[in-house]
Amino acid sequence: MVLAELGGRISSALQKMSNVTVIDQKAVQECINEINRALLQSDVSFKLVQTLASNLKKTVNPDDLAAGHNKRKIMQQAVFNELCGLLDPGKPSYTPKKGKQCVVMFVGLQGSGKTTTCTKYAHYYRKKGFKPSLVCADTFRAGAFDQLKQNATKANIPFFGSGRHKQEASLFEEMRQVSEVTKPDLIIFVMDSSIGQAAFDQAQAFKQSVPVGAVIITKMDGHAKGGGALSAVAATKSPVIFLGTGEHMDEFEPFDVKPFVSRLLG
Ligand code: GDP
Repeated sequence: MVLAELGGRISSALQKMSNVTVIDQKAVQECINEINRALLQSDVSFKLVQTLASNLKKTVNPDDLAAGHNKRKIMQQAVFNELCGLLDPGKPSYTPKKGKQCVVMFVGLQGSGKTTTCTKYAHYYRKKGFKPSLVCADTFRAGAFDQLKQNATKANIPFFGSGRHKQEASLFEEMRQVSEVTKPDLIIFVMDSSIGQAAFDQAQAFKQSVPVGAVIITKMDGHAKGGGALSAVAATKSPVIFLGTGEHMDEFEPFDVKPFVSRLLG
């Protein structure tokens, strides 16, 4: 289920609840169940869905609500708050400052979109008057150096790197070593939005190896289920800062929690 579909289903669950004559415990529970199903089908991790459901139940207890309260509105607000809570780890990401050197390291599985995304990121900040350069520190994957060089040249961004290719090192160990040596100001975890239920564990594994400070979700233009991405935020406790929405340099959007959830819920 794509994200827009998830939003639609949550909205229709809320609508259904408000259509019943008496909003009692049963009606609320049915609405919560429908929201749970929609979230699970969008690949939000099971544990998160459970937490979200129990929070909703506590917030919208019909027995506690005085007559005349608009229960649908209260439920809607509670769902909005819970989804925002899922996407907002409560601390903003580090952002580059002009006139000060800033090292940003991109990590993620092969094919997640790191090469594409770091070029988009550099392009985005150059348009804001920064002077970015790209450095290839991926000695693990054959071709990484050439691909980044090609992107950087096309975008006219200075490029450095070592083309060394070393099969024996494990990706995580190499990543940890690069992070120790370069001491990045920010480590960005790049994740393909179609990753599904594996997202939570994968994101957590990266977070355990290096201090991930922000997340960029790629391929939001595809038919991906977006829920895995929501789980990644919970796993890394780091904010989403951008969404990748295509293969081209400008297909890159800054991410804001509240407008995103508002749009999601229609
Ligand atoms: P890396 O192995 O992590 O460096 O991943 P790449 O940057 O090479 O990306 C893998 C593939 O995904 C390439 O074909 C990219 O063009 C494509 N890609 C990356 N980001 C996006 C995106 O936001 N949308 C779409 N449609 N494709 C993307």
